[in-house]
Amino acid sequence: MLVLIANLGSTSFKYRLFRMEGEAGEVLASGGVERVADAASAIGGALDDLAAGKAIPGLDAIDAVGFKTVLGKGLTGCVEADERVIEALEGFSDVAPAHNPPYAAGIRRFAGLLPGAKRVALFETAFYQWVKPSASNYALPRSWRDAGVRRHGFHGASHKYVAERSAELLGRDDVARVARRLYSDGPRPVAGAPLRVISCHLGGSSSVTGILNGVAVGTSMGFSPQSGLPQNNRVGDLDSAAVPYAMRALGIGLDEAQRQLAGESGLLGLSEVSNDIRDIAAAAAAGHDGARLAIDHLVHSIRHWIGAFLVDLGGVDALVFTAGIGENNVALREAVCAGLEGFGIRIDPQKNAQCRAVEADIAAADSPARVFVIPANEELVLAREVRRMLSN
Ligand code: AMP
Repeated sequence: MLVLIANLGSTSFKYRLFRMEGEAGEVLASGGVERVADAASAIGGALDDLAAGKAIPGLDAIDAVGFKTVLGKGLTGCVEADERVIEALEGFSDVAPAHNPPYAAGIRRFAGLLPGAKRVALFETAFYQWVKPSASNYALPRSWRDAGVRRHGFHGASHKYVAERSAELLGRDDVARVARRLYSDGPRPVAGAPLRVISCHLGGSSSVTGILNGVAVGTSMGFSPQSGLPQNNRVGDLDSAAVPYAMRALGIGLDEAQRQLAGESGLLGLSEVSNDIRDIAAAAAAGHDGARLAIDHLVHSIRHWIGAFLVDLGGVDALVFTAGIGENNVALREAVCAGLEGFGIRIDPQKNAQCRAVEADIAAADSPARVFVIPANEELVLAREVRRMLSN
């Protein structure tokens, strides 16, 4: 089965083409375009390039297209990417303005370009369907909650891959199986002892998720992708009273306040250097106070959420780092794990220093908990779900 995974941003379209044989996925081709004015209209050209390559006989050979949709109003899970999905995306366009409009446009575009291929959407919120109401609700009046204001959670495909892979690495095939089949079967009891994982997806956009027996119990991300940890240029958690206060104090309107919170805040806002942790780390090393503050704030926020899930889960069997920063930033991993020996987390500084963008256990041999670096593999999670949906 050939499954094309479409990754749409406001100025980019990237794809990865998988041949799926059971749970295994072989990447046959990948490509796309970046820095375009309109991502959806660039899809046709990118598919022409794919067809011109030798990976597949023609575009007709593609069985399905998978979309890693972010947030739908009143809709989550893994579903056929039809008009209902487009409506759900458009219903929350203002909540995820960088993500939802390009996906709505992209799904429509694929319907025209590859009419014979099934279209499947896997919402990033899907991993959080079983979070308890005590953790997913905000303390709001009924009318707000009925309007859909709640903690949704994001990076679901990434954290789900961590749930599957960490269980495999720990030899817990019972939990790995539950995690892999979660979207079709729902949570299932496991044979062995409870398996407690804290997953840190740290990249341009970041979140920490607590996972028990392959199922999320909670996450740092809230209503929108602009919450939780400080993001590259988005604010992260902020007291709701700060927005009307700042609008009055700075004499700015709501649109300008939202633009600043979504584009000039986060690591960029604090450091005043860059939205990329590599530039910020270089500036911090050269003595830049704002850059130091940005890194320290990120570390503080990650530890805050790790602490929350240590309590929620009653301990941890594996702490996992994934995504661009988590996979590559040795100093940040060390800072996050500093002083956590009392919680069973002890890294081996040498193993940590040697690990960049590869799968590894960086815990000390005598550490009660494992500390894994697991390269992100969201596309494979989506390709597997697409295959499962088509097979059913
Ligand atoms: P992602 O969103 O997962 O692609 O992660 C992007 C972020 O990861 C970038 O903004 C960088 O701060 C960080 N990153 C990516 N590659 C590296 C690297 N080789 N070393 C350090 N940080 C990196």
